[in-house]
Amino acid sequence: MSELETNLGDVERILVRFRNKTLPHFINGKPDPGRSNEVFESVTPIDNSLIGQVASGNAEDIDVACQAAEEAFKEWKVISGKERKKILHKVADAIVDNACEIALVESYDSGQPLKFMSKAAIRGAENFRFFADLAPTARDGQALPADEHINYSIRQPIGPVGVITPWNTPFMLSTWKIAPALAAGCTVVHKPAEWSPYTAMMLSEIAHAAGLPAGVLNCVQGLGESAGKSLTEHPAIKAVAFVGESTTGSHITRQGADTLKRLHLELGGKNPVIVFDDADLDRALDAVVFMIFSLNGERCTSSSRLLVHEAIQDEFTAKVVARVAKLKVGNPLDPNTEVGPLVHDRHFQKVCSFFGYAVEDGAKIVAGGNAVAGNGNFVEPTVFANARNDMRIAQQEIFGPVLTVIPFKDEADALALANDTEYGLAGYVWTNDIGRGHRMAQNLDAGMIWVNSENNRHLPSPFGGMKASGIGRDGGDYSFEFYMETKNVCVALGTHRVPKLGK
Ligand code: NAD
Repeated sequence: MSELETNLGDVERILVRFRNKTLPHFINGKPDPGRSNEVFESVTPIDNSLIGQVASGNAEDIDVACQAAEEAFKEWKVISGKERKKILHKVADAIVDNACEIALVESYDSGQPLKFMSKAAIRGAENFRFFADLAPTARDGQALPADEHINYSIRQPIGPVGVITPWNTPFMLSTWKIAPALAAGCTVVHKPAEWSPYTAMMLSEIAHAAGLPAGVLNCVQGLGESAGKSLTEHPAIKAVAFVGESTTGSHITRQGADTLKRLHLELGGKNPVIVFDDADLDRALDAVVFMIFSLNGERCTSSSRLLVHEAIQDEFTAKVVARVAKLKVGNPLDPNTEVGPLVHDRHFQKVCSFFGYAVEDGAKIVAGGNAVAGNGNFVEPTVFANARNDMRIAQQEIFGPVLTVIPFKDEADALALANDTEYGLAGYVWTNDIGRGHRMAQNLDAGMIWVNSENNRHLPSPFGGMKASGIGRDGGDYSFEFYMETKNVCVALGTHRVPKLGK
């Protein structure tokens, strides 16, 4: 039996509990069918066949989940950091124990290749371990002695928080928000994306089975405009951590205004990878191909604009095209597959529309440029050459396995092109000139710059974007800053004169 057949058998075994059933919410430590009979269908992008129905949460469901999170917060916020650390490590252990199942379901549900999803599930466990270890010191502050007073700061968890996540790498991304929130002492109501609902349920179940008290992590399934909106408007929710599109970030900002929500927004990107003619071109080639064609190009940090020095434009583009021709497109459960189907028919239609825009705007399709025939949402890995930065393929986030190649003349031109976008999430620079690498890093308007590297991630480092790519940073203490309030305590040493009024 091939590995694909084994994985198909395994995923069916795991999905039996979801097949043709209604996926419930998870509220106050147990599955919850919801307060209405409304459901939506969930399909696999492999062939658009039905997986099952999903409860479509409404304002009442969100209210019940928020009340559970508010009640649980009373206990969770006072549990010692050491105890939170212990519980969160148990959650991490349980994720590792279930990593194969999580990866198979994620891959089947979202279309992202198992090759990457198995690592993503383990990364989810690492996120829990990293923040678990910080839990005992998460509330530490500073001592700030003044002349006649001593000031010190302490941090306390902000309260119940909302976490709203997208469908790309959904399990790993949700742990990136949920783990620090729980480590800080907050409780969570999670609203996962409607196109990839299953592994969010698995996370809630696994975490509670591992010892997380009831109500500390709740999951309400549903649509953005109903369940998501209600969550951002609920008065019990003190902060919302959101990952998704920039336009949704604007909606959430408006929705959260009346209740003065603290917001962290991780939004879209149109990230440049800039290849100078003095770069190590073999390594640059590996990184360029990896950063747009892994995870189906459905990745916020994907390098979707290749800015290449004009002297090497033809040679380098030809090498990219040769590599693209060898990419293995296919069933995401096949461990050899490098590019799987796009998450949903609507997203597939969107990505395909750019094949037409490219030609209309005068670019040349040098690889791919077509949908793959069949019932699934597969597109050919695609390269657009001879593009200009003002074309739609260079300005809009396509979020698929599609690369736009734009030549530049010199460093100043490269910088101007790279920054000429509404987004500012990530930037990649390839050069063997150290000074130039640092200069570009200083001048690029993006939250994260990698020089001579793909998007290597170090968990204490800040992660987030500028401009339309977001507000706020994740990672290490940056995450705790978001999930906690800082309080200053000022104590007099008894030597100063208190001002006297009315004497
Ligand atoms: P999306 O904005 O359509 O949806 C994200 C989530 O928001 C979903 O759970 C959705 O139901 C919910 N939502 C939608 N409307 C809402 C509303 N009015 N109120 C509250 N919630 C609402 O994004 P998507 O299509 O699921 O994800 C892809 C996008 O996510 C891309 O733009 C990608 O760049 C971005 N992304 C960014 C990062 C980052 O770190 N910057 C990481 C991953 C993905």
